[in-house]
Amino acid sequence: MPTCEICGRNIVSKAYLIRMGRAEYIACKACAERHGKIVRVIELGRSVKKTTVKKYIPRSTTEVEVVEDYAERVRRAREELGYTRELLARLIGERESTIRRIENGTFTPPLDLARRLEKVLKIKLIEEVNEEPLEGNRGRLELTLGDIVNFKEE
Ligand SMILES: [Zn+2]
Repeated sequence: MPTCEICGRNIVSKAYLIRMGRAEYIACKACAERHGKIVRVIELGRSVKKTTVKKYIPRSTTEVEVVEDYAERVRRAREELGYTRELLARLIGERESTIRRIENGTFTPPLDLARRLEKVLKIKLIEEVNEEPLEGNRGRLELTLGDIVNFKEE
């Protein structure tokens, strides 16, 4: 969650990019109205009520992981929104170099970071991977050539 660069409060649903003098700041609504010229309103997606946030407990057969083409998705979404890497970095509370590494595909964002990116960029970066039951996998791996021949003959 980004914080207001003026008052330091957490910004929940909308962040305001404001101009004060020559510098741009990410601000909450109150500070944006009080201080600067609003350059851009940034929707941060639906706010999640604290009480409804549950820790994700993976079941044995379902896992979540970051999609393979995360680099492409992040870059495209950021460009479509017209955000600079620096602005995106500030919105999610990371360094610009982290964004660059993500977009280069050299750094797979951990789940919490991927969730923040999803929210700010309104994209999907995390997918559920449904795995076959463990026994099924093992069974398949242990198939021998003989088994396969037998299977075909049936
Ligand atoms: Zn503020």
